[in-house]
Amino acid sequence: MTATASSKPASVVVVGSINMDMVSHSPRLPAPGETLVGEAFVMAPGGKGANQAVAAARLGAEVAFVSRVGTRQHGAELLAALGAEGVHTAAVATDATALPGIAVIMVASQGGENSIVYVPGSNAQLSAADVEQAKAVLQAARVVVAQLEVPQPAIAHAFALARAAGVTTILNAAPALPVNAELLAQTQWLVLNETEAGQMAGMPSASLEQVRAAAEALLARGPGQVVVTLGAQGVLLCSAQQGAQHLPAQRVTAVDTVGAGDTFVGGLATGLAEGWAPADAVRLGQAAAALAVSRAGVQTAMPRRAELAAELQPRS
Ligand code: ADP
Repeated sequence: MTATASSKPASVVVVGSINMDMVSHSPRLPAPGETLVGEAFVMAPGGKGANQAVAAARLGAEVAFVSRVGTRQHGAELLAALGAEGVHTAAVATDATALPGIAVIMVASQGGENSIVYVPGSNAQLSAADVEQAKAVLQAARVVVAQLEVPQPAIAHAFALARAAGVTTILNAAPALPVNAELLAQTQWLVLNETEAGQMAGMPSASLEQVRAAAEALLARGPGQVVVTLGAQGVLLCSAQQGAQHLPAQRVTAVDTVGAGDTFVGGLATGLAEGWAPADAVRLGQAAAALAVSRAGVQTAMPRRAELAAELQPRS
C-alpha cells in the first residue's frame, strides 16, 4: 500500500536536506587511480532532513518537509519517495535546472570501512525566502526540526517563524559545524552526538562526566534542553531545571548503526509533537533507533509505531 499525504496540518515540520545515496560495495576501498570490480550497487534516498522526516512519519506523526530540491536527474524521484511515505512535500521549493544532493559512498565489504564524497547540490541553495514561502506550514506545526546540511540563515528564519507562533524548535547540530549565535538563540532543543557535543563545546567528550560538562557548557549558550546521544550507551538529557539525566539504550544486536541519530531525532520530534514530557519523548526516539540499528539500511530500517512497546503507543 502506498501512503499519500493527508490534508491534516503537519505536527512535525522538518527543514533540511534530501540526497540520493549511491553506494558501491567492493572487497576493499580502491587506492587513488585504481579501478576495482564491485560486488553490489544500491541507490537509496537519504539526507538527514529526509531521513528524519521519514522516521517521524513511520512513527505516526503528520510530517511536512521544507527544502529546496533540484529536480534534474534523481530529484523528482526523491520527492516522490518522500511523498510515498506520507510526508507532505507541497512546501518544498523545486528547481528544474538544479541537481539534488548526491552522496557517492564506497563501502569495503571486508572490514566495513567507507569513503564518501558528498555533493550538496540544491541543499546548499535553500534560502530564507524559500522558508518564508512555507510560513503557514511552519506556524501550524507543534515542532520544527532542522539539521546542519542546509544553510543556517534558512534554518534561523524557520526557527524565528516557529518561535513567533509558539512552535517548539529542535536543532540536530549534525554534521559538526560551528552554529551561528542567531540560530542558537532560536533553538529550544539542541540534539547532537558525543563527538559533535565535544567539538561544539570545544571540550573533550570521551567519558560520561566530560559529556555532561560539555552539555552544561552548551546549555549556557541558550537552548532549554541539550540531548547528547551516546550510541549504545543511550542518551544524556540535560536542562537547567532538571539537571542531567542518563537514559540507557535498549540492548540490541547492532547490524547497521548508520542513521541511528536520524531515527532518534524523528522519534523525539514525534513524542514532543504529541505533548509528551521530555524524558518520554527521548525514550520514544531511543526505542525507534534501537530497532533501526538492529536492521540493515537507513530509511528501510526505520520502524513503524506499532512495532514499539505498548507504553510508547500514542496516548489519546
Ligand atoms: P549518531 O548516529 O548521530 O552518531 P548515536 O550513534 O549516538 O547517533 O545514536 C543515536 C541513538 O540511537 C542513541 O542515543 C541510542 O538511543 C540509539 N542507538 C545507537 N546505537 C545503538 C545500539 N548499538 N544499541 C541500542 N541503541 C542504539
